[in-house]
Amino acid sequence: MSYGQKKPGPFSGQRTDTNSKRNNFPTFFVIQRISNCNETFHGVSPFLVEKSITGSVGDAKSTKKLRSGDLLVEVESSKQAKEITKLKSLSTIPVTVKPHATLNSSKGVISCGELLNESEEKITEELKSQGVTHVRRITIRRDGQLLNTKHLILTFDSNKLPEHIKAGYMRLSVRTYIPNPLRCFKCQRFGHSKTSCRGTLTCARCAEVGHESTDCTRTEKCVNCKGEHTSFSRNCFAWKQEKEIISTKIKNQISYQEARKLIKSRTPTPGNSYVSAVKKSTAPSTQTNPDVSISSNKPPDSIARASPPITNLPILSSPSVSPVIEETLASPDLTDFTLVKSRKKLKKGLA
Ligand SMILES: [Zn+2]
Ligand SMILES: [Zn+2]
Ligand SMILES: [Zn+2]
Repeated sequence: MSYGQKKPGPFSGQRTDTNSKRNNFPTFFVIQRISNCNETFHGVSPFLVEKSITGSVGDAKSTKKLRSGDLLVEVESSKQAKEITKLKSLSTIPVTVKPHATLNSSKGVISCGELLNESEEKITEELKSQGVTHVRRITIRRDGQLLNTKHLILTFDSNKLPEHIKAGYMRLSVRTYIPNPLRCFKCQRFGHSKTSCRGTLTCARCAEVGHESTDCTRTEKCVNCKGEHTSFSRNCFAWKQEKEIISTKIKNQISYQEARKLIKSRTPTPGNSYVSAVKKSTAPSTQTNPDVSISSNKPPDSIARASPPITNLPILSSPSVSPVIEETLASPDLTDFTLVKSRKKLKKGLA
């Protein structure tokens, strides 16, 4: 990696200060075909699509086709946002247009002891003018008791996270919020919850199917990486990798699938032979990896605008977006410490 810690990372452009103009309008819109036979934009001429969009809203920042076959358009101004919502057709193709469900917001974490006694509702109300739509306090469970921490997760009405916000007289830095991987309590796999599980009941302690971990005394084995630890262990390779995928997804504003490809392509999986691991890590350029070049050239369902050049990875070292990892709420870990540590790192990085 050639750029130093002091230079702003490639993602600093995604962050805005409170003083600069905030987007208080949606910037991402989904254009869907109105069709009786489920026609999508797969197979529709890209010239036609491009011309119709430019013709009605001017030059959009980006247009992508989603996996679903709908179009994802990013606009640059509130005027364009207004224009695009009025769109009824692209050339002769009737369409509906609506703001994207999640891409028009972002989440950040602030830490402030002075806000410990303020309710989430009160804080939301006070910060509303700065684009905050929701506030959730991070709590930890210790000795069976739920304790408040000074860390608050803020949801903003824009996909651009501000660097700072003002809470009364206090200026607080906002860090990117990276949620923990979601692990299913039934099958122990990542990415879904018990309620939507289609897997089989698997023990979180011994990885055998058919019983719960509560009374299990067998040898620890992990379902996800086959290692000698429980499936909820934080030493788990699979858990760490999952966390990195989520982090990459959020910071690069790319899809989960794309982030997964990127992480998998540069992480040798355990069980791989020494030779294949060495081959991967000494490959002269990621371009030789077909997975990576595909995701860098034509991400089908993501916002390529925010994707950095592949060579700039790993992005975890980017100083401008130090992630905040929320530890599992039920865990007895000293969440405070983890968060404070990462905050100090951030300060050092910015200094
Ligand atoms: Zn499951
Ligand atoms: Zn068991
Ligand atoms: Zn594991």
